[in-house]
Amino acid sequence: MVSPKLPLLLVLLHAVFGSAYRWYNWQFEVTCQSDAYIVPEDEAATAKFLKEQYPRGSHIKVVGNGHGFGNLTTCVDNSLTEKPTYIVSLDNLKHLSINKEDMTVTFGAGWDVYDLIKELKANGLSFDHLGVERVQNFVGASTTGTHGSGSSTGNMASQIVGLRVLDSQGNLRVLDEKHNGEELKAFRISLGALGLITEMTIRVQPTLHMKKTTKVLNATSDYSKMYQELAQLYREHDRMTVWGPHFDWDADTQSWALEPTYFLSWWEPTDYTDVQNCTLNYCANGCGDCKKEYICYDEVTDAISCPPQGVCTREFYAEIEHFFPIEYYAEAAANYTIFQQSQTPRMDAPYNHQMVIQHRSLKGDDTYLSPVNTYNLSPELSGVFGVIEIDWIQEYNNFTTLWQNQELAMEFLPHFGEIYNVRPHWNKMSPPNPTYTLEKFPKLPEFLAIQERQDPKCQFVNDFLVRQLGITRCQDFLSS
Ligand SMILES: Cc1cc2nc3c(=O)[nH]c(=O)nc-3n(C[C@H](O)[C@H](O)[C@H](O)COP(=O)(O)OP(=O)(O)OC[C@H]3O[C@@H](n4cnc5c(N)ncnc54)[C@H](O)[C@@H]3O)c2cc1C
Repeated sequence: MVSPKLPLLLVLLHAVFGSAYRWYNWQFEVTCQSDAYIVPEDEAATAKFLKEQYPRGSHIKVVGNGHGFGNLTTCVDNSLTEKPTYIVSLDNLKHLSINKEDMTVTFGAGWDVYDLIKELKANGLSFDHLGVERVQNFVGASTTGTHGSGSSTGNMASQIVGLRVLDSQGNLRVLDEKHNGEELKAFRISLGALGLITEMTIRVQPTLHMKKTTKVLNATSDYSKMYQELAQLYREHDRMTVWGPHFDWDADTQSWALEPTYFLSWWEPTDYTDVQNCTLNYCANGCGDCKKEYICYDEVTDAISCPPQGVCTREFYAEIEHFFPIEYYAEAAANYTIFQQSQTPRMDAPYNHQMVIQHRSLKGDDTYLSPVNTYNLSPELSGVFGVIEIDWIQEYNNFTTLWQNQELAMEFLPHFGEIYNVRPHWNKMSPPNPTYTLEKFPKLPEFLAIQERQDPKCQFVNDFLVRQLGITRCQDFLSS
């Protein structure tokens, strides 16, 4: 039996030292100390919590699954503030309803991508806009613009037709395309800055099957030629991802050695449903027999994205992902590769292993903070974006190497941003520069006006958001 003195002792200890919760992202380099981890049981409890915290001006960071490469989920560390500071997870909000008449699904903010996709499949529905993995919380993924590949496929957020969101005073705002469509454009990608999204409604479709074709290509150090060929393939294939070129770290020469081959996959809708075999080879995470030519068929989510059981490696890695009009693709890809190689002599930390350049395309949209927003595109551009991702993967988890690679990764945007109208992924090494952000996101002032209404006391912001979005009214958010 537990002594009655023990609970009392715990209460006393708690009162003296306070409770604390240390937050880490998936690879442990984003971390902060909060006062507590709050997991309300439903929307009403979340609203009550916010109402209680508003008079105190508590710092509140809502998180999904922490699968980011940047500081979006960094809470205000409790060593920096007198006010309470909390991490909030809406994991318990797990309601779901399917409307097959208008082909939408409404669900609570607690749903992870993996579980939601499984549920949709069981109900004869598909969601066609996933990234390469499904490890994220659905709201966490869509609110940063997570995407897959396809010149006529938008990012996950483009499928949001409605949502419920709580402001910092616990007031509920209900948004949908019909009643407040313009405002919804601000909330689809809102980075946790506009409040706690408690529920989402997304567009879905009847079960969709895809044929996936994977080809192996020869790499060449004539990058111009190689990327011209890929640009041509992007004109031929609506949905295509290129994994490569791959480079391996050569410890003797302290440089990257180009692997002789790399691979790409494209997807086409099919009515062939007999065999469903794309999950037999999980190449999204570099697992399996990737450099192999094959054709597979599957339900779209299994054809385009990798379930957790397909993730076989999880070494630290630094990553950038940049979006720019696809018309610039071949030239940009060549110059990104050459620029990376010019950084190599400075990569003197140990344990570099592999560098993979990944290429995708994405349909533009009119979400205020979407990295593929089309607001500033000149009329001769198609509104389709090319996407370049570079992953610097380590053979051993070492923070010095990770930080060095991240620092070098930050140099790409200042170098190429203006030339190619580049917008970085919000959750992947995005260097703060509010002047630049405003230029690439012309609807930022409208977004910030809504931010002020939703969060008058700057409780939802952190250093990243203040500096990245230029929320000047919140620059003293720690002390005000
Ligand atoms: C291994 C790996 C693979 C990836 N693959 C891809 C890919 O293929 N394509 C791609 O585009 N990206 C990809 N990403 C990036 C990833 O999709 C994003 O970083 C995504 O935002 C992470 O989702 P999360 O649930 O972990 O959210 P978190 O990182 O926890 O949070 C992200 C943001 O969402 C906000 N948020 C969370 N919940 C709520 C809520 N209820 N209300 C309001 N705001 C909320 C947070 O405040 C934060 O600003 C990948 C990342 C990793 C680590």
